[in-house]
Amino acid sequence: MFDDRSPDSTVHYRHTNAGVRVAVLPATCKVGAHSLHTVGYKARVDRVAGVVRISCDSCAEVPDVDHFWVLRTAGAIPDLAELDDEPCGHIVPLMIDPRGRGRFPSSADRTAEAQPRRSGSP
Ligand SMILES: [Zn+2]
Repeated sequence: MFDDRSPDSTVHYRHTNAGVRVAVLPATCKVGAHSLHTVGYKARVDRVAGVVRISCDSCAEVPDVDHFWVLRTAGAIPDLAELDDEPCGHIVPLMIDPRGRGRFPSSADRTAEAQPRRSGSP
């Protein structure tokens, strides 16, 4: 579903009046066609890569190679996240060309994902 492409930008963080740290994520999908509030989305934090990936449910069905944002995280994982385009308006999406060097999910990748990891088996 996701690949290890470069982040589009960095997550915007804000603090509520109560001092709670909130991650502000784009409310519009990467291609700009859908409101994530309307069509739904999935956000996954990858602690190893230090990014959060936000997938548009509508674009992911197509599947569109650019169905997800990749945003670099900073500091601890916040307690809350919200969708708001206003602080994310400066982000210029890094669009992937499926015919170019961008890694469109290939059948080889899918096979690798489907196979169970066999570490430590006799
Ligand atoms: Zn979309």
